[in-house]
Amino acid sequence: MQNCDYCSVEKLPFWKTKHWNLFLSKDQTYLGRCVLALNRHAGSIPELSQEEWADLFEIMKKFENAAKKAFGATSINWTCLMNHAYKLKPYNPHVHWHPRPRYAQPIEFSGETFTDEKFGRHYEAIDANRKLSDEFRKAIESELLKYLR
Ligand SMILES: [Zn+2]
Repeated sequence: MQNCDYCSVEKLPFWKTKHWNLFLSKDQTYLGRCVLALNRHAGSIPELSQEEWADLFEIMKKFENAAKKAFGATSINWTCLMNHAYKLKPYNPHVHWHPRPRYAQPIEFSGETFTDEKFGRHYEAIDANRKLSDEFRKAIESELLKYLR
């Protein structure tokens, strides 16, 4: 699909299933925040097949377990908003989710401290306010992968 950020993505997912690709988000305000994108072009949740939905459910269970074991996440916010796709016409949404681990207490990982200032409330909506080196991002991916497999 032309003009679709997810169909034209050049970055490789760090983990994938039969129907979904998992990418680490640029913004790591919430340690382990990812983007989970359907691996075909579909514009809304009702367009998912039963098999894609079932695969998503298994990923949700695996991701929640991985974020809790890897980083001590307290809970996970799952959002499927796709508002960006409606900023310009022609509208061209592609189903994707933003799993954001949330933390009741500050977390230390690889020498950095992550504090979820808004725990118990809506997450901080400002994007890309905590960027990390590629090396640090690889370490986060590796830690999640230990528990996603
Ligand atoms: Zn697409």
